[in-house]
Amino acid sequence: MVLSKTASQSDVSVHSTFASRYVRTSLPRFRMGENSIPKEAAYQIINDELMLDGNPRLNLASFVTTWMEPECDKLIMSSINKNYVDMDEYPNRCVNMIAHLFNAPLGESEAAVGVGTVGSSEAIMLAGLAFKRRWQNKRRAEGKPVDKPNIVTGANVQVCWEKFARYFEVELKEVKLRDDYYVMDPEKAVEMVDENTICVAAILGSTLNGEFEDVKRLNDLLVEKNQETGWDTPIHVDAASGGFIAPFLYPELEWDFRLPLVKSINVSGHKYGLVYAGIGWVIWRNKEDLPEELIFHINYLGADQPTFTLNFSKGSSQVIAQYYQLIRLGFEGYRNIMENCRENMIVLREGLEKTGRFKIVSKDEGVPLVAFSLKDNHCHDEFEISDLLRRYGWIVPAYTMPADAQHVTVLRVVIREDFSHTLAERLVNDIQKVLHELDHLPSKLSSNSSIESQSVENNEKSTVTTKKSALETQREITTIWRKFVMEKKKITGVC
Ligand SMILES: *Cc1c(COP(=O)(O)O)cnc(C)c1O
Repeated sequence: MVLSKTASQSDVSVHSTFASRYVRTSLPRFRMGENSIPKEAAYQIINDELMLDGNPRLNLASFVTTWMEPECDKLIMSSINKNYVDMDEYPNRCVNMIAHLFNAPLGESEAAVGVGTVGSSEAIMLAGLAFKRRWQNKRRAEGKPVDKPNIVTGANVQVCWEKFARYFEVELKEVKLRDDYYVMDPEKAVEMVDENTICVAAILGSTLNGEFEDVKRLNDLLVEKNQETGWDTPIHVDAASGGFIAPFLYPELEWDFRLPLVKSINVSGHKYGLVYAGIGWVIWRNKEDLPEELIFHINYLGADQPTFTLNFSKGSSQVIAQYYQLIRLGFEGYRNIMENCRENMIVLREGLEKTGRFKIVSKDEGVPLVAFSLKDNHCHDEFEISDLLRRYGWIVPAYTMPADAQHVTVLRVVIREDFSHTLAERLVNDIQKVLHELDHLPSKLSSNSSIESQSVENNEKSTVTTKKSALETQREITTIWRKFVMEKKKITGVC
C-alpha cells in the first residue's frame, strides 16, 4: 500500500513493449494522459505490469486465499456490478451461519448480531468501538471519568490493534512476550486489567507463530477478577485466522461464545474462510453488546436498513463468494480442507526437523503454519535464508519477534489450501539447497570484519574477500531491512 510516491526523473512514464503496437508514445506515470488510448493498449499495458507482481500461489507469507473453484469465479464475475448496500439476504445468512459455528447463544428463531466487513481490520475497529462505547456509557451512568480507556493485548497483536488504539484514542497495554512463549500470558493480562480496561483481546492464531492463546484460562481468571472488583471487563477474540480452523480441527477447544466473557469475535473470510481478499466478519454475542447508538438506519434505498460499518458502498462479490463456500463445502468440506492443510503442515515440519538445523516455534495445535528458527544463526541467519529462497521463487518472510523476545528471528510458511504435499516436499528440498549454499559462503561475521582481516590474513583469504562483494551488497540490504523491521517493531507485510 502506498499513500503517495513522488516521481523520480527516470520513471515518469510507462513503457509497454506489446502495447506499442497500439500506441507509439509512452504514457505519463503519475499524471492523467492528455488523450484517450485504445482499449487494447490500456489492457495490454496493465496486463504486462501485473505480471511483475509475482505468483500469489508461491507467496507463502500470506494467509489470504489465492484459489477458488471456477464456479465461484463465475459467480464473482456475475456479481461484480452489484453494490453491497443493495444486497438483501446473503450477508445475513453468512452472519447467522458463522454465529452458529462460534456457538453464539441463539434461540431457535433468533437472529444473530454481526456484520460483513472488508476484513478483520475493519471488524476489529467496529468491535473495539462497541467496547469503548459500552464502557463509556456504563462509566457515565456511574458518574466516573471516561477519558482514559485502555485495551489489554499481547505484544504479538496484529498491527490493526495498534491502528484501532491510535485512531480511536484508546491506550494499548501490551503484555510482553518472553523466550519460548510468544503469545499473551493470561495471568499477566488479567493483572494489567484496571477499571479503565474496555476489553482484553485474545488471539486465536497468533500472526507470528499461529499459536492459539488460552482464551478459556483468560476467561476463568477474568471472571474471578470481575467478581473481586465489581467490574465487568469483557473479552474479544481476534480469530482472524483461527476462526475457520478451530471449529473444524479442534471442536472441543473452548475459545468462543461458549465462554461467558467472550462478547465479540472477528474472523477474516479471506483467510481460512477460503474467499479471495476483501471479506471479514464480526459477530456479537447479544444485541446488548452492540450499543444501539452505533447502528444507523437508512431507508432511502427501499426498506429500512440498519448499517454499522465504516464503509457504505462496496462490492458484493466477496460476500457472494463466502456464501458459496459456506453452502458448497458445508461442515464436512471445511473440515476436509483444514485437515489437509494440517497434514501438509506436518509434512513440512517433519522435513525441516529432519535437516537437524531448525527449531520449530509453531505449535502442533494452531493455525496450519510452520514457524522456525535456525538452531545456530551465528554464521548465517534467517534473513539470508529468506533472501536465497526468493531465487527459487518462494516468498518466505523472516522477521524478529516483538518485545521482549526481539532477539528471536523466525521464518514462517503459511499452509493454505493450494499448498500441496508435493510443494511441501519441494520447499524442504529447496531449503536444503539453500542451507548447503550458505554453508559454503563466508559467514556474516567474517564479512563484517573483512577489512581488518584482510590486513592480517594471507592471500588465500583475500581471494575469498574479493569474491564476496555481490554477497556483501545483499547482506547490506539484509542488515538495513532487519534494522527497519526492528525499529518498526511490528511487522508490516506479514499479514
Ligand atoms: C490477518 C490478521 C488480522 C488483520 O486481518 P485483515 O483481514 O487482513 O484485515 C488481524 N488479526 C490477526 C490475528 C490476523 O492474523
